[in-house]
Amino acid sequence: MLPNAMLKDGFLNDNSQLRVFLDKNENPYDVAPALKEELRMRMQDLSFNRYPDMENRRLREALALDAGLDADNVTVANGGDEIIQMLFLAFTKPGSNVLMLRPCFSQYCYLCKIFPVKQKIVPFKLSAGEVSFDEEKFLDCLSSYSPDLVLLDRPNNPTGKSLPLDFLKEVIRLSPGVVLVDEAYVQFGYDSILDFYGSCDFPDNLVVLRTFSKAWGMAGLRIGYAFTSLNLRKALERVRSPFNLNIISQEAALIALKYKEWMENRVEGIRCTRDRFIADVSKLPGWRAYPSAANFALVESCCDIGTIRESLRINGLEVKFLNPAAFETEGDKRNKTWLRVTIGREEDMGRLINIFKNLS
Ligand code: PMP
Repeated sequence: MLPNAMLKDGFLNDNSQLRVFLDKNENPYDVAPALKEELRMRMQDLSFNRYPDMENRRLREALALDAGLDADNVTVANGGDEIIQMLFLAFTKPGSNVLMLRPCFSQYCYLCKIFPVKQKIVPFKLSAGEVSFDEEKFLDCLSSYSPDLVLLDRPNNPTGKSLPLDFLKEVIRLSPGVVLVDEAYVQFGYDSILDFYGSCDFPDNLVVLRTFSKAWGMAGLRIGYAFTSLNLRKALERVRSPFNLNIISQEAALIALKYKEWMENRVEGIRCTRDRFIADVSKLPGWRAYPSAANFALVESCCDIGTIRESLRINGLEVKFLNPAAFETEGDKRNKTWLRVTIGREEDMGRLINIFKNLS
């Protein structure tokens, strides 16, 4: 059996400090203890020998109620990752065009390679502390490439940029194929594409992805879901494996919804830590953090990657290093080091700022 210290959050590093993982955009906080206790009690009544409800009916109804939609607008999956995979299965064929911004969630590019489809890209530009992209160019690509699938993460991973809602509405209106609006981090921002559509007028080509992995702090349980029209849901159902979400995760999600306020308070705390972290980093000479609507921030540094990596290793902190080739940047920015830093606890971010300070 694993020792308790290994099962709990974090591992010890060489200096016996707790290692801190700021590399996977996880929530630094586990769920409410009362939620776990409810789940533990509920497990006594679950029959592990039975398959889950193939329709995921109770969970779909609960998620629909929470969003003001119908159960027929909801598809649940084994993490948001599975929803994305289902989209490739349902709506692309080898050689299809798939349009996206770059950089974006790495899984989009990975799936483009294995399916295989043609990746069409409009790049983000980074200049003067701003993340931007050419909206007109993106809209033009809808007619010139006629993509079967458009993939947009809002907020974008790894820049933290929240795409303008008017732009998204135009993409949905003009797109000849299916449009994914990936809202994995939506609770850390302030609005949603769902604010514009109800059950009756849900666009037939829109998929809104959500997950319990980020704001809800339940990444280990692998619960993702999608809001779509009824027609689009039928297409997703054709490629969904029948018992894709296990009974424990289904129960956990149902119980979690009762703790929405608890989750929102945690999210508010993470937002404050994020905004403080971004301000603190940007005060350091040679460092800059970009504004973010998610639970991570894009950081740019003049310091070389090897030095940063070693310093983080010694201090037991993990962040994600990004390939500079993924960005369209001006002049000297090509020589910079790029990191994506997940927002952890206040003390974790303090430790990280001190490391950056020593390198600046
Ligand atoms: N979308 C985006 C933009 C993500 O960053 C992630 C996970 N990092 C996911 C979807 C998938 O999340 P999960 O499979 O944990 O639900």
